[in-house]
Amino acid sequence: MSDIPKHDVIMVGAGPAALSAAIYTTREDIDTLLFERGVIGGLAAVTDKIDNYPGFPDGVEGLKLADDLRKQAERFGAVIELGEVTKITDEGEYKRLETTSGDMLARAVLIATGSDYKKLGIPGEQEYYARGVHYCATCDGAFYRDKHLVVVGGGNSAVQEAMFLTRFTSHIDLLVRSTIKASDVLQKDLAKFVDDGKITVHLGTTTDEILGEEVDGINRVTKVVGTKDGVKTDFPTDGVFVFVGLKPNNEVVKGSGIELDEIGFIKTDGHLHTNMKGVFAAGDIRSGATMQIATAAGEGATAALLIREYLEGHLVTPAASEMADVASAEAGKAQY
Ligand SMILES: Cc1cc2nc3c(=O)[nH]c(=O)nc-3n(C[C@H](O)[C@H](O)[C@H](O)COP(=O)(O)OP(=O)(O)OC[C@H]3O[C@@H](n4cnc5c(N)ncnc54)[C@H](O)[C@@H]3O)c2cc1C
Repeated sequence: MSDIPKHDVIMVGAGPAALSAAIYTTREDIDTLLFERGVIGGLAAVTDKIDNYPGFPDGVEGLKLADDLRKQAERFGAVIELGEVTKITDEGEYKRLETTSGDMLARAVLIATGSDYKKLGIPGEQEYYARGVHYCATCDGAFYRDKHLVVVGGGNSAVQEAMFLTRFTSHIDLLVRSTIKASDVLQKDLAKFVDDGKITVHLGTTTDEILGEEVDGINRVTKVVGTKDGVKTDFPTDGVFVFVGLKPNNEVVKGSGIELDEIGFIKTDGHLHTNMKGVFAAGDIRSGATMQIATAAGEGATAALLIREYLEGHLVTPAASEMADVASAEAGKAQY
């Protein structure tokens, strides 16, 4: 074990949650290594424009925010390695991480691997990703004021998000592969939007293709092709929002004994601590997370402060719910 590289903290992922956490840990001289298998900055880096991250009155380009978060973490000494963590094993004081750069040991681990929106896997979806094809209504809905949209899906989130999008849009075509699976309450709410002519529901309709053309020099989405009972229909639109579920990036914990909820997100206690001592989770991968950059950054900062408590031997585990209040109060002390 002696020749295996050892770190105080290894963070899995380098999205907003982990980068924010790394700003806090490294600023306190806690030796921190991050592993990123994709793009530094995570989903934020591949988001065209972010309008709801506090502190940017005119919005900020996702890539710029991601780059600034990276620079800020690196300024205090965070090291980011491009590669994947494939397994975490509890070896007592140290956790062993199998990575594409070999095995590593860490006294504490932060899992901040995020999630991916499930894709339809149809032609045009990748081509127009973030340029007419979206997976987050809170994030991108406001770009479609008085426009026409297609929403795909029939579960709770599709119905909820379609109703939310009516704040901006002139009309929505909701394409549902089979029947609406949303809760009764949501279905009743949806009926009001249908009666008002704001949403038209197309049951039994598969979404086959997303097409676009050049408008004012920009290649934009112009229509979606759907099929019902073997008959193809064109749905003219300015954009498409897809809500067919979320896929947590949880491969790294499979077989580790770290507990997941029924959908596959990592369960934590009030200290963001998983059931494996010394392993924490923050951001989109955490069960109950609100899936926003601001909240991922907040959870990352909180996790970092709690990891510091853990490394100093002050964090009581497993956490009783009342201890969460104590830890939060501790975490809030003198962090300027
Ligand atoms: C199209 C789109 C637009 C969005 N727009 C907004 C918006 O406007 N405002 C907003 O607040 N939110 C927005 N969101 C949501 C926001 O991007 C996420 O909530 C946020 O990025 C979550 O941060 P995170 O650090 O938890 O996870 P992520 O950003 O997902 O980062 C996790 C990182 O971990 C890496 N990773 C995963 N597994 C491993 C592994 N085993 N080893 C190494 N690395 C690994 C991934 O490659 C990824 O880079 C948007 C999301 C999408 C998809």
